[in-house]
Amino acid sequence: MTLLDIQNVFDTDSKCREILCRLRWPNGPECPRCKCPALELETEKQLFYCKDCDYQFTVTAGTIFNDSHLPLNTWFMAVLLLVEARKGFSANQMKRTLGVSYKTAWYLCHRIRAAMAQAEHVMLSGVVEMDETYIGGRTRGMGRGPHGKGKQIVVAIRERGGDVRFFRAEDAKSGTLAKYIADNISKDVECIVTDDFKAYPAAVAENGFTENHFTINHSWKEYVNGEIHTNTVENAFSLLKRGVIGTWHKISAKHLPAYLAEMEFRFNRRKRSDLFLDTLRHMVTAQTLTFEKLTA
Ligand SMILES: [Zn+2]
Repeated sequence: MTLLDIQNVFDTDSKCREILCRLRWPNGPECPRCKCPALELETEKQLFYCKDCDYQFTVTAGTIFNDSHLPLNTWFMAVLLLVEARKGFSANQMKRTLGVSYKTAWYLCHRIRAAMAQAEHVMLSGVVEMDETYIGGRTRGMGRGPHGKGKQIVVAIRERGGDVRFFRAEDAKSGTLAKYIADNISKDVECIVTDDFKAYPAAVAENGFTENHFTINHSWKEYVNGEIHTNTVENAFSLLKRGVIGTWHKISAKHLPAYLAEMEFRFNRRKRSDLFLDTLRHMVTAQTLTFEKLTA
């Protein structure tokens, strides 16, 4: 899918609505209020009428697209720009590329991210790598690591050859890490590989994974000890950091989870040929995000 494809395939509002309709209701449209499939479509306003409860709605009602005055064609282009940008796409780039106001571009990006954040998650298994890093708020002369004002802790868990999960963590204590393990790593995981950060042994023990926990000693420069390495989770981190440095520049702590959701969504689908349609599907099935909620 390219911008040109969008101009050709989704050039009218009704063509955009048609694809959204198929993505939202794969088994045919139904009333969001009473689930009744007996509907009448008023083609001019693209309004569905429920024959059972008289409810009137459009395909975008109650979705991420709700109450937007932008043409759907513009939305589709914004989605494509965001999913095709491996290192992320800033609101400023969106503003320039689509010729919309900064406020509109910012809102577009955040709404698309909100849909991405609600993507379904499966438990990770096989060989799983876990690592933590510090991003943002660089203080001159302090170098890397947890020092300096405004640094955010990001925890990543990645199944080798599979999905990654990013989290903005309040702290890197073992109790916090244990919760991420419990929520994201399958009980039948083959093994968990981490570095020798002191919080991991207690975190894995809390989940009963002591036997299959392996550590690499980064401080001893033992980066690769056969299969015991955290290279693949570090690769995901380096892409994240390039996104933060190259695209977003400064991210507030409040919006960091949304950016992490975007990076995670794109990273986990990077080999999918239906990435664009899959993102649209999430946008018509996720909960809405109001401007008030976003700026609260
Ligand atoms: Zn109804």
